[in-house]
Amino acid sequence: MSLINCVECGAKVSDLAKSCPKCGAPVGEELKNISRVQIKIPVVRSVFLGTAVDIQIYANGNLIWSGRSGNIAEFEIKQPTEIIIQTKKKINMREFSTVVVPGKKYRMVQDEGLHMYETYRLTVVDFIDSE
Ligand SMILES: [Zn+2]
Repeated sequence: MSLINCVECGAKVSDLAKSCPKCGAPVGEELKNISRVQIKIPVVRSVFLGTAVDIQIYANGNLIWSGRSGNIAEFEIKQPTEIIIQTKKKINMREFSTVVVPGKKYRMVQDEGLHMYETYRLTVVDFIDSE
């Protein structure tokens, strides 16, 4: 066990506690669970440009996650936040913005489009399946 600082009031709290004994704010793992956002990014199909796609996610102008399609993007936020998801495959870069809510799980969905002009969106899911 170790002591951590409550993010709300600054009190020292055991990292095993679920909430701060002083102010009641969630701490440690509990805080992570509440504030975590997970986005399953499926392997994106592309006829001409291959399948692996680089993904970058921005919030308030800051890069908060980057990786490849087929992975689960994971980050923590305190309140509903507008994010920008960029998908890059070679010369083709698309981006869309959407609002995500802390504690929710999402799946990125590709809508069919003409060749390089496909679009994406997020849909809320109860759980993230492993493909
Ligand atoms: Zn506190």
